[in-house]
Amino acid sequence: MTKVYNFSAGPATLPEEVLDIAQKELKDYQNSGISVMEMSHRSSSYIEIHQEAADLLKDLMKMPENYKVLFLGGGASTQFAMVPLNLMTDSKQADYVVTGSWSKKALDEAKRFGDATGNISSEADDFTTIPDLKSAKFRDNLDYIHITTNNTIYGTVIAPEDLPETKDTPLVADMSSNILSQAYPTEDFGLIYAGAQKNLGIAGVTIVILNPDILKEPLEFTPKMLNYKTHIEKDSMFNTPPTYPIYISKLVFQWIKEQGGAEAMEARNREKAALLYDYLDESKLFKPVVDKNYRSLMNVTFVTGDKDLDAKCAKEAEANGLLNIKGHRSVGGMRASIYNAMPIEGVKTLVNFLKDFETDNK
Ligand SMILES: *Cc1c(COP(=O)(O)O)cnc(C)c1O
Repeated sequence: MTKVYNFSAGPATLPEEVLDIAQKELKDYQNSGISVMEMSHRSSSYIEIHQEAADLLKDLMKMPENYKVLFLGGGASTQFAMVPLNLMTDSKQADYVVTGSWSKKALDEAKRFGDATGNISSEADDFTTIPDLKSAKFRDNLDYIHITTNNTIYGTVIAPEDLPETKDTPLVADMSSNILSQAYPTEDFGLIYAGAQKNLGIAGVTIVILNPDILKEPLEFTPKMLNYKTHIEKDSMFNTPPTYPIYISKLVFQWIKEQGGAEAMEARNREKAALLYDYLDESKLFKPVVDKNYRSLMNVTFVTGDKDLDAKCAKEAEANGLLNIKGHRSVGGMRASIYNAMPIEGVKTLVNFLKDFETDNK
């Protein structure tokens, strides 16, 4: 088999070491004679995996003592509803910073439950930048402020230094595509959520990190399954949790810890992203799409300016083992997703391919 690199935006590439362990343990988890997939979620073997996953994440995210980790189903998209159901309960007002398609979807869902607005937005700039959140005028008396830290489709990021100062208003973040890619101050957030399939594992588990002090009584029609308290009380075992995805996330957390944690991931990710952006900046064929000040370390978007040439580039990349660099169907161009698990060799191989493509298509 020739070596391929998978630049998919999600589900995305996993660390090779994680796949090796999963393969080794697939049919016989640590001499239990059975697979993790076949274990009761009430068994001591599984409970150990579950607990260790939560402990590792607490450690990696430097979570304050009272914060909780939840492992839920339903994807990040279910959090679009769960957040307002549980938090838009007092003033029933929330401000959403709209920086891409996913934050728009989160806002649309919140509007079903209360007075959610998306006035602070970069839509007028086709989501190629991030509004200045330090000077942004949020409304008074909000139940929470919602942001999307990394805009997977457009390739922009709200870096830790650009976070809004929300004082007593809980800050809620969709971190699906850059959680643990760099160190965010967890204590500044009331709630963080992330689907695992981009940076933390495989599809099926959604990670929620929250400060239980921000929880009030949810809206009265909230189903039990969508009430955070239900899951906090039962340690994410109210019903059958997505056991195998949680096991894979545990392996990913161990891998991140062995790499040196979020800070070490950030250093690696900066090096990888710089390789690609530096080439794109000097290229005469390719052009990076977004505002230099808000470039994502995870999803690098670029174009040639010619749709047919973009398509040719993505197709030839595929033939060369560089998979899934075609941009999202809503924006076109190219997008290379270079999450934590993408090795630097993958980025170097991509840059070399793009250089050759540029020479051949002058
Ligand atoms: C992928 C993604 C989602 C959607 O996640 P699902 O798990 O498919 O619901 C939401 N937000 C962001 C930022 C994403 O990248």
